[in-house]
Amino acid sequence: RAKLDGRNGVQFYAPHMNAQASDRLALESALRRALHEQQFTLHFQPQIDLATGRVVGTEALIRWRHPLLGTIQPERFIGLAEETGLIVPIGAWVLQTACLQNRQWQRSGLGPLRIAVNLSARQLAEPGLLDSVERVLQDTGLPPASLEIELTESMMMGDIESAIHTMACFKRMGVKLSIDDFGTGYSSLQYLKRLPVDVLKIDRSFVQDMVGSADGAALVDAIISLAHGLRMHVIAEGVETIAQLDFLRGAGCDSVQGHVYSRPQTGERIEVLLRAGHIEPKTSTA
Ligand code: C2E
Ligand code: MG
Ligand code: MG
Ligand code: MG
Repeated sequence: RAKLDGRNGVQFYAPHMNAQASDRLALESALRRALHEQQFTLHFQPQIDLATGRVVGTEALIRWRHPLLGTIQPERFIGLAEETGLIVPIGAWVLQTACLQNRQWQRSGLGPLRIAVNLSARQLAEPGLLDSVERVLQDTGLPPASLEIELTESMMMGDIESAIHTMACFKRMGVKLSIDDFGTGYSSLQYLKRLPVDVLKIDRSFVQDMVGSADGAALVDAIISLAHGLRMHVIAEGVETIAQLDFLRGAGCDSVQGHVYSRPQTGERIEVLLRAGHIEPKTSTA
């Protein structure tokens, strides 16, 4: 199995006692270099409104195009990027690139279209976050309401009061907020009530369990009612089958995102899809 190495780019795994520490160092320096050499890219996954069948937005998802290892998925490097703080400059690049792309689509008449950007806990705690988001919106000319910032329940648990304060500032700017992976964290419903959130994203683990399980179905129904009761919009993540799509439509879910419509794709491919003006669910996502 290939592994990352800071000096040589790539080596082969020879498990030994210090493998983990040296792997981390190698990955960290490779991440640093990736940032300077522009090896990161964004893919976008369409979000479809169930009532109209239209693409109402996309979620920006980072990819690392390593010169030797090929495309590396975020799960393999976001954690270390957070620990080392590198997520701050990486996240700033994501925000700028995503907003610019969405503005270009809007200028080409492909909107109204929202762009959802994932934030990490480290970014949320950065004192300069609000200013940098404001600057990106000014630089790109993207209307604030076209940007949706995705946060997770767990990232708010550290300092909930300061998280709520930051979120309130985003609301005043006109930026939309969503809770990603909803239901997988430990936040209490007391907090949910206090969070100035527009969108609740049902985690894909619930979507997977929903069809053919009465309990799973009950949970998804309950999450949708809860969100609507709190005047939030609901997006289901990781929708892979027509059966799941039908269930969600019946349950009153607002929008969906998942392989049944489209995997995350390059900006060029998304543009083709947006120009076509419609998107059909796939009967097989294999
Ligand atoms: P997430 O924000 O919950 O993103 C959804 C993940 O589900 C994406 O994985 C997407 O490719 C995947 N997905 C979408 N539809 C389906 C489906 O139908 N079935 C299945 N099995 N999966 C589906 P991805 O792109 O690998 O991203 C993983 C996580 O990495 C994201 O989860 C997010 O937490 C994080 N991430 C991605 N991009 C960024 C970024 O720019 N900044 C930060 N801080 N985190 C990011
Ligand atoms: Mg997300
Ligand atoms: Mg998610
Ligand atoms: Mg996630």
